[in-house]
Amino acid sequence: MLEKDPKKPTIPYFLFILMALMLLNSLIVPAITEQKVQEVDYGTFLNQLDEGKISEVRLENDRIHYTSEDEEGNDTPYITGAWTDPELVDKLHAKGVKFTRVVPHETSPVIGFLLSWILPLFIFIMLGQYLARGFQKSFGGRNAMTFGKSNAKIYAENETGKTFADVAGQDEAKEALCEIVDFLHSPEKYAEIGAALPKGALLVGPPGTGKTLLARAVAGEAHVPFFSISGSEFVEMFVGMGAAKVRDLFKQAGEKAPCIIFIDEIDTIGKKRDSGGMIGGNDEREQTLNQLLAEMDGFDGKKGVVILGATNRPESLDPALLRPGRFDRRVPVELPDLVGREAILKVHAIKVKMEGDIDLNLIARATAGASGAELENIINEAALRAVREGRNRVRQEDLMESVEVVIAGYQRKSTVISPEEKRMISYHEIGHALVASRLTDAAPVHKITIVPRSSGALGYTMQVDEKERFLMTREQILGRIATLAGGRAAEELVFNTATSGVANDVEQMTKLARAMVARFGMTEEFDMVAMESQGSRYLGGDTSLTVSSQTGSRIDTKVVEIIRSSHERAVEVLKNEMEKLHQLAEFLLERETITGEEFMSILNGPEKGAAGMA
Ligand code: ADP
Ligand code: MG
Ligand code: ZN
Repeated sequence: MLEKDPKKPTIPYFLFILMALMLLNSLIVPAITEQKVQEVDYGTFLNQLDEGKISEVRLENDRIHYTSEDEEGNDTPYITGAWTDPELVDKLHAKGVKFTRVVPHETSPVIGFLLSWILPLFIFIMLGQYLARGFQKSFGGRNAMTFGKSNAKIYAENETGKTFADVAGQDEAKEALCEIVDFLHSPEKYAEIGAALPKGALLVGPPGTGKTLLARAVAGEAHVPFFSISGSEFVEMFVGMGAAKVRDLFKQAGEKAPCIIFIDEIDTIGKKRDSGGMIGGNDEREQTLNQLLAEMDGFDGKKGVVILGATNRPESLDPALLRPGRFDRRVPVELPDLVGREAILKVHAIKVKMEGDIDLNLIARATAGASGAELENIINEAALRAVREGRNRVRQEDLMESVEVVIAGYQRKSTVISPEEKRMISYHEIGHALVASRLTDAAPVHKITIVPRSSGALGYTMQVDEKERFLMTREQILGRIATLAGGRAAEELVFNTATSGVANDVEQMTKLARAMVARFGMTEEFDMVAMESQGSRYLGGDTSLTVSSQTGSRIDTKVVEIIRSSHERAVEVLKNEMEKLHQLAEFLLERETITGEEFMSILNGPEKGAAGMA
């Protein structure tokens, strides 16, 4: 990984070392060597001279430096003060001593001044600056002079080396991102026709499902540089830093287009801005977000810069981020189903040595609700266990054991789904889907899954209309209510009981039924009388009753009536489809996720016994 740090300290270390050495040389070294010189009185000097022990004398600045033999006969440097001694020259001459007077160096006053004043000052300033820079850096800030230029950790990779093959399962997400890959591959193609692709796509899903991996795979597939930064890194100590980082990020990326900018954990900066609250409380985050919005609007969409964001809390994002021209595409990255889990296990199993008789399908079955990261961890734990036991191949038992280690951890946190519960959930979802398919006014089933969601939903039946609807007819609303009742109806018919898993269904049904009565004027009894008004047109909000409380209780009675008859209708539909109900529920239980086509082909196919499915 190449770490880009645009603002390196400008003063190289070696310059400092050089300066320090110079200082050492000119000040400290002489001081040390001088200490070895013995200082003696003039008399001793004369005695030594008389004894003929002195070989060399040097007069320097009124001091006499000389060398003389000590007791052991070694030459030792001495020093003594010069005396007005007219005979000295004669004496020295007589003894044959070499003597000289050192003329002091004529240093120019300018150079002397420079050396003694400016140089130390210069060194101190440099040292101070360097220290200050290091200090600021450790606080994540920057030098005042370079303000506005970020030194945030922007990770830039020229090639991520990841491809879609590294991301197992997640076919829908990959499909959604394919277009972006193609766009990055050949932006000219799109520019030519005048098409601007979405500037951004938001990867949404629970942690560990491969969002980061997918983003890198997009860059890898398109062979474009990958700039990434985590939302939490934007949140800085000083106001204005985050915004500066955003500017910098987009500038750097702009120079490298086509490329990908990836903002991980975008919810940390993209949280909803609250209108009230403390003044200036979230100034920094808000500035950063505003800068991000401005940059996203500002750059040329045809240039080939695509912004990918990832979050596991999409509901907390500021709506402004999701507007067209920003993160207008949302790519769900869900927990993998059975097939996906097996594929992910396969991808990671390649990296470790395994015995020949490993059954990854069995592991996948045992790990309903596990994320990609957890599955990766299971493989790794198994390998660690094999090593602990002194083996060089992973066995099935290692995998089973690590499933327990890894899953036990996460099951405590989230939902434990027993096989019996899973069966019930399966029937419940098929109940919804069957009712929907048998009512002419309901939208076709697109996908049914019993893979638990991070939102807490245990299963999910997705219906997608062929076209967008702005109006709903009375029949459609009633069909929708009956569809919602289908889950409970199936529970009653098959298990002769009711579960708590219908809370959301119940809430939605009630809302719809109530709206029919009080807001849409769809009942005989009340005709077109508005009995409720909505708080805020744009923000949704609560509804408030605009009629007397007596009328209010009549509304309630009417709502119950609508719901009861819809419930009965759902039970009626399912009673006629018991065979298909069992067949489909078993199939869903086996697959965990089935598509609308699979659903329809069983529904329209032969009765049980000949269930050869695609
Ligand atoms: P997220 O960003 O969604 O939290 P990551 O992309 O960081 O998840 O995933 C963590 C790791 O889990 C990845 O590096 C990868 O090894 C593994 N992983 C997750 N999902 C998948 C997948 N669908 N296929 C292969 N590996 C996956
Ligand atoms: Mg991530
Ligand atoms: Zn339901």
